[in-house]
Amino acid sequence: MAQGRGWEGAVLRLMRAKDFTFTVTRAEDVTPEYRRLRFTDGGLLAATGTHPTMWVRMWFPQAGKPHQRAYTLVDPDPAAGTFSLEFALHEGAASDWARAARPGDTIEATVQGTGFEEPSPAPSHVLAVGDPASLPAINSLLGALGTAPATVWFEGGGADLPFRTDPARHDLRRVPRAELVDRVKSELPALLAATPAPYVWIACDTRTTRTLGAYVRKELDVPKDRVHALGYWRET
Ligand SMILES: Cc1cc2nc3c(=O)[nH]c(=O)nc-3n(C[C@H](O)[C@H](O)[C@H](O)COP(=O)(O)OP(=O)(O)OC[C@H]3O[C@@H](n4cnc5c(N)ncnc54)[C@H](O)[C@@H]3O)c2cc1C
Repeated sequence: MAQGRGWEGAVLRLMRAKDFTFTVTRAEDVTPEYRRLRFTDGGLLAATGTHPTMWVRMWFPQAGKPHQRAYTLVDPDPAAGTFSLEFALHEGAASDWARAARPGDTIEATVQGTGFEEPSPAPSHVLAVGDPASLPAINSLLGALGTAPATVWFEGGGADLPFRTDPARHDLRRVPRAELVDRVKSELPALLAATPAPYVWIACDTRTTRTLGAYVRKELDVPKDRVHALGYWRET
């Protein structure tokens, strides 16, 4: 089953990863560059349960080889054994597969190690930085963290992306890519100073994520357990 997945597949198997096959049941173009697919889960949710920002690794074929890519579960329904994935489209094996996917298509997945630690104490203010690849996780995070207000710096994507932010308590700041780091650096300190239990969540391309994660931890002295920074894609 996992033939041809090389060392990544072997390491995942050693780490007791589980394999599942997902089947597409519905496809929807939310925008020309953002596509949502609904899947049956091949037993995944019954085996693993769900948690906020949960993601899975799938094996997307390209030129006869499988390529591992991570995607975030949207609206998982354990009783029905279904979930959606939302694909920010660009070039690449996963994007190409998602563009062409139709009901009945299948994809293999390996699930291992995804987790979520509820911040304690509960955040008094969530400060999130993301882009279309992390929009599903931002939606999931804000949904899970209850009534906390949030400020979200968001780069990229068109007007009609499926934000689940609540304008009454979530301040969504759309920022051009080239300005993202400077904007966050100029606006974040005052917000941090004004709230007793901040929680900072960053998921952009790896370089931006590393820069902002280091800035928040080292220059702003936010404790490690109040900062989550994970690069979601690598710019090449
Ligand atoms: C935990 C986790 C959860 C994720 N969840 C989601 C999700 O729910 N939805 C989602 O769309 N993505 C998500 N991602 C990001 C996704 O895994 C990457 O974007 C992945 O690289 C896409 O693979 P690809 O085969 O399409 O492109 P690749 O073959 O990896 O890249 C091809 C080219 O596209 C560029 N590229 C790759 N990703 C992006 C991007 N997001 N924006 C612009 N250019 C890009 C690369 O720099 C490269 O030049 C997640 C990543 C992680 C780590």
